[in-house]
This record gives sequence, structure tokens and C-alpha cells, in this order.
Amino acid sequence: MSFTIHGLPVSQGIAIGHAQLVSHALLEVHHYVVTPRAVAKELERLNEAIAAVGAELNLLRKAPSATHSEVSVFIDLQQMLLQDPMLIDAAREHINTRRCNAEWALVQQMDLLVEQFDTIDDPYLRERKADVVQLVERLVKNLLGHPGYVPMRRREGLGTIVVAHDLSPADTIHFKDAQIAGFATDVGGATSHTAIVARSLALPAVVGLHHVRHVVNDDDILIIDGTRGVVIVAPDSRVLEEYQLRKSQLEIERSKLKRLRSAPAATLDGERIQLCANIELPRDTQAAKLNEADGIGLFRTEFLFMGRDELPDEDEQFEAYRSVLKGLPGRPVTIRTLDIGADKALRGMETRCEANPALGLRAIRFSLAEPKMFRTQLRALLRASVYGQLKILVPMLSTLTEIKQTLAAIERAKTELRAEKVKFAEAIPLGGMIEIPAAALSVNLFVRYLQFLSIGTNDLIQYTLAIDRTDEAVTHLYDPWHPAILLLVYRTIQASVRAGVPVSVCGEMAGETANTRLLLGMGLREFSMHPAQILEVKQEILRADAAELSARVAKLMKLDDPERVRDAIGRL
Ligand code: PEP
Ligand code: MG
Repeated sequence: MSFTIHGLPVSQGIAIGHAQLVSHALLEVHHYVVTPRAVAKELERLNEAIAAVGAELNLLRKAPSATHSEVSVFIDLQQMLLQDPMLIDAAREHINTRRCNAEWALVQQMDLLVEQFDTIDDPYLRERKADVVQLVERLVKNLLGHPGYVPMRRREGLGTIVVAHDLSPADTIHFKDAQIAGFATDVGGATSHTAIVARSLALPAVVGLHHVRHVVNDDDILIIDGTRGVVIVAPDSRVLEEYQLRKSQLEIERSKLKRLRSAPAATLDGERIQLCANIELPRDTQAAKLNEADGIGLFRTEFLFMGRDELPDEDEQFEAYRSVLKGLPGRPVTIRTLDIGADKALRGMETRCEANPALGLRAIRFSLAEPKMFRTQLRALLRASVYGQLKILVPMLSTLTEIKQTLAAIERAKTELRAEKVKFAEAIPLGGMIEIPAAALSVNLFVRYLQFLSIGTNDLIQYTLAIDRTDEAVTHLYDPWHPAILLLVYRTIQASVRAGVPVSVCGEMAGETANTRLLLGMGLREFSMHPAQILEVKQEILRADAAELSARVAKLMKLDDPERVRDAIGRL
């Protein structure tokens, strides 16, 4: 029977395909009884998994973060648990006496221990149950030979649509290789990094569907309408035909836009606008070139670090940065230093328990707290700088001290390289992301130390309006047109223009055509967005008159009634 579910539209377009249910709850394991002869083999499987996890933990100890006391305490605890009779011997016992498969034996024992932990009064001990769950998760992952990201089936004919409770940005990035047509998830917000990756892959997606994983069956035919935020399950032939028609119409419209590729982005009154690309991995450079981007406005380097067990070393990073710079000769390439944390976790570090990860040790705070890791990235960037027009961008600045510390770290890396007689460009522009209200209010100070600014509206909205960008329960409050947001963006642009410091917007606002005229009117002359959006935004620019918009936006900024503001933006 056909039915429709409504969620949040996070990535436009239509996808039609077969559902592939993805369980991310690794602990939902199969339960089966093995034959008496297979008991020894099952015990051996468990032993092998224990040895492999022990080796993994030893490797983790060598990661730069292991110098952090919390991380090393965590590793010690996990090693101890790996030999804990209450967990391991008891699991062996389940295999021996009840012939459970190893995964089931572990999960059963884990459930028992967790129940006991729950009755303990001491909050510290009660919290230790998370350690048990994490260790069992590691063991089960090993037993299942889990490759570390969502495994995909390949199919002929109709595409595959991934249906999951949640997907991490690292999972989603692998969809590039797996010919996934679209995805639907129970949870997620419109500007979560998973949604951003979906848009950059031009992958139709609907999130915040609540129970989609429970109501859809594997192999059901699904339509994902990423523009309206609708998932149609088992559509009848009439609906299917209608959507197939709409899908091909959209493809025709997209291919018409391709004619704009070679046209320079200029307004009717002759203002040249820079349209740059946001990329997550070096291979995205191809899409940037295809859409004739004026350069890379944001390379989110954290995606090189995510979804893997070992971090990229200096040479691997150098190769990645160099390939982007060489891929766009003569065009600026803005590479952002690591913006790890919140919904972009490093494997093995998910374990740091933060009540408010978005307010925690992320981005530049993390880099400054991990000087070894930061030094490696800066050295790789400096070495790559001779291959093109590199600009370095620092995420999540909130204080002048962070700028000064970053400048000092760059100087130290330069001194080292000079001593080693390694070449690098001396004058690499350093820029800062304006994505915390404190930074937006400090622009006049920051521009004295920075050569360019980039407004990250995704986080600026999250932090100004105090709404978690990944939480679908508050998505309705996520409002780029809130007068407070408009004021912060407008002031930042105006202050940069006055100071003669180039400013761009690289948050999602820049790629939404509904905001193009507004941002032009605020004085913005550089936009950075996922490559798939460049041509649509260019079309808007070609129809706009910058001087006229500037006068209209100046008037609109005097309004304080949100309804009238929305109305005025709609009429721009
Ligand atoms: C932003 O916050 O707007 C931004 C571009 O950075 P990210 O989305 O990677 O946090
Ligand atoms: Mg950000």
C-alpha cells in the first residue's frame, strides 16, 4: 500500500529507487545458536576480535590526541574492560553453555551489566556503562567485519535509496562512490553537515522523518522529493510516472543552466561577483571546475580526517592540498584548518563526553589544544603553497588571542621549514571565519590582523539563535532572515568593505537563490557554495542591479518587525 511521509527538505531534486535499510545501531545483532561442533570456532572468533580491538586501542594510543589525559584514561579503561571477567569470561560462558553466537553473547552480557550499572547510586560508576557499551560496539564491529562506513549494495536499473535512523557526514561522503540516488533519515537538521554533504553531492534527501526506518521495508520502491520534503513509499504507477516526468524536467532545466557556465557573473550594472566553490575532498575540485568556479572559497579539510582510524600524516595532507591547488591554477584556493568537533567527530574521539559539543573543544580551539596535529597541518599547507594561490582560513574564531596564537603557530612552522630549506610562499593571506556572534561584533578589530573574512552563516545562525543545527526539533527556529542575523551579516560585510578587507559568505545562505539579491544588496561581492548551486546563483546575479538592491536593502535594514522584514526580502 502506498503512503507518504513528511520531513525536512534538505537537498533538492527527485530520486526514485529501492530502499536499503541501514542499521547504525551496531548492537542490533543477529541471534542464533551454533552447532556443538562450532562452539570452539565461535570462541576463537571472540578471541580474535578481542586481540584485534586490543591492537586498535594500542594504535589509538599513538594518535596525537592520546596525550590528552581524558583520552589516555579512556584507552586504559577500554583495555581493562577487554580483560574483565564480568564481561569477557561471561560472554565465553554464554557461548560454551548456551551455544550463542559471539555477537549475541557479548550483547547479552552487556545488557546485563548495563542493567546493574543503572542501579548504582554513584554517578561516576553509573556513567561507566557507556565504556562497556562502546567496547562491546567495537568488538561487535570487528566480529561483523564492519568496514567503518555504511556498506552499499550495487543494483541495476532503479537506484538505491538509503533509509537510516541517522547518518554521519562521514557515511554520506562515501555515497559518492556507491551510486546512491538519495537518502531519508529519522533525525537531522537542515544545516547539519550530513545535509551539506548531500547538497554538495546533489543527492536528493529528506531528514527529520521520525520513524521512516521502521515503516519502510528493504527493497520498497521509494520516491524522495528533496524539494518538498516528502517521501512516497510504494507509489502507484500513476504517481511513479508523474515523478519520473518531473525528474526528467528538472534534468532538462539543469542542463539549460549549463549554458551559463562560461558567462562571467556580473550584475546588470556591471559589478563583477566572485562565485567560488565549497569542497569537502580534493576530488570535488572537478565539480568546481565543471561549474567554472572562480576559485575554492572553502575547503573543509576535516573531511580528510573523518571516517578513518589513522589520521592523515603531513605527506598525505600535502598531497591533498597540492592536488586542489594544482587543479585550479591561477585561481584562489581557500583551505580551512581543521574544523573538527560537534557533528564532525574523529573516530576514536567520539568518547569525550561533552554536554554541549557545539560549544566545546572544536575547530580552532581543538587545533590550538592539539599543537602537534596543528603543526602537521600547517606544515603541509605551507609546503603546498608554492603550487598555487593558497589562502588559509581559520574556523570558529571568537577571540583576538586565537588569531595571535594561530599567527604564532604559522610563524613557528615557517621557521622550521626555512631551517629545513623547504620552500613555501611567504605571503599567504590568513582569513577568519565569522560564525560566532562575538566574532561578528569584533570585526573592526579582527580586520587589523586578518587579510580576509568568510561569514559562516550556518554556525552564526546556530550560535546567535541558540538552536542546534542538527536537531530537527528546533529546525523551524533556524531562520536566516531573523532580524538579528541580518544585522550581524550586514554589519560584518559593511565593516569589511569599509576596511578594504575582502569578505565572502560560505555558509548555506550563499548557495540559496532566495538570498542572492539580499546579500548583493548588503554589499557582498564574493559567494562560496557547493558547486552544484553556482549556476543557479549566477542566473540570479545576471538579472540583478547591485546599486538598486543596495538602496533597497539599506531601507529594509531599518525595519524591526520580522513580518515586514520577510515581506521586504520577498519583494527585493
Ligand atoms: C558555516 O558554519 O557556515 C560554515 C561554512 O562552516 P561549517 O558548515 O563547515 O560549520
Ligand atoms: Mg561553521
